[in-house]
Amino acid sequence: MLVVMQAQATEEQVRAVCQKIEALGYRAHSMPGAQRTAIGITGNKAEVESGSLEEMPGVQEVIRVTKPYKLVSRDTKPDNTVIKFPNSSASIGGPGLAIIAGPCGIESRDQAFTIAERVARAGAQFFRGGAYKPRTSPYSFQGLGEEGLKIMAEVRDRFGLLIVTEAVDYESLELVDQYADVIQIGARNMQNFSLLKRAGRARKPVLLKRGISAMLEEFLMAAEYIMSEGNYNVVLCERGVRTFADHTRNTLDLSIVPAVQRLSHLPIIVDPSHGTGKRNKVTPLSRAAVAVGADGLIVEVHHDPDRALSDGMQSLYPDQFDALMVQVRQIAAVLGRSIPKGAEAATLATTSTQSTS
Ligand code: PEP
Ligand code: MN
Repeated sequence: MLVVMQAQATEEQVRAVCQKIEALGYRAHSMPGAQRTAIGITGNKAEVESGSLEEMPGVQEVIRVTKPYKLVSRDTKPDNTVIKFPNSSASIGGPGLAIIAGPCGIESRDQAFTIAERVARAGAQFFRGGAYKPRTSPYSFQGLGEEGLKIMAEVRDRFGLLIVTEAVDYESLELVDQYADVIQIGARNMQNFSLLKRAGRARKPVLLKRGISAMLEEFLMAAEYIMSEGNYNVVLCERGVRTFADHTRNTLDLSIVPAVQRLSHLPIIVDPSHGTGKRNKVTPLSRAAVAVGADGLIVEVHHDPDRALSDGMQSLYPDQFDALMVQVRQIAAVLGRSIPKGAEAATLATTSTQSTS
């Protein structure tokens, strides 16, 4: 059920409807939009008796939602979700593209700082890096854990980059929620429903990667799990799916970008690194992702990929990332979008303004 408020409904009227829904024993999710507020109702086992809600002041209509997802849907919120960050000009989902770059895993402070310096200079606003690595083999590098999170917090302080890092279970999610700016849920956990619910109770936005063989509806339902717990800041991420093709690690399904955008208001970004698994395919697929209308990119970059402890084969050299940024900026402009000034550029500009004044 969805309660659509009149365009001129007051905050008080919205609050009264939410209270009524809660009093009926359900959960109310108020989703303000550019034109009007809609209130999603969850927690109902059967159909909600809509009569008493329809009569409340400020209510335009009460709609039965036929799709299995409610809060994720454009029916609930017609305008795009734009995720903003405190004390930062960065956002995800607006006209500016979000560029997230960094190593697959945090290996040391030196490694993280060397890469962060380069991606910040190239214009990225977000730094990625795993402290908890879900690896196919238990003998592969598993990440530095909390020490890795501390290094990333230092990267944020030094370069002004926002931190994106993966949580793999309850315990790591708790820590990632404390240290990072965006909590990543990896492809292998896309249907770990208890973890999704825990992420829904976190304070930070969640970057949800598409499962290795997830259909569109399964992907959206995973996001619905997070939103149903009250965290509405979800970014979807296409990272390739398993097919019979063996010229790439996964098959990057760029058609899911417009498919998601048709059904959902949530931002969707693309990961061309895991999507291809091959360094020489990352830049072409990044260009394509921006051209298809993605809201951003998440790209693996390493200064010494031959010695990387994970995913070296698909990591760009910093010079290649510089070139990628130049190219995708031009493609973004064709679509009337832009890549905002990077964190480093912004820091430098502030410093020079301060020093000349
Ligand atoms: C990663 O981002 O390093 C990662 C493990 O991604 P995915 O969950 O898409 O495999
Ligand atoms: Mn990786």
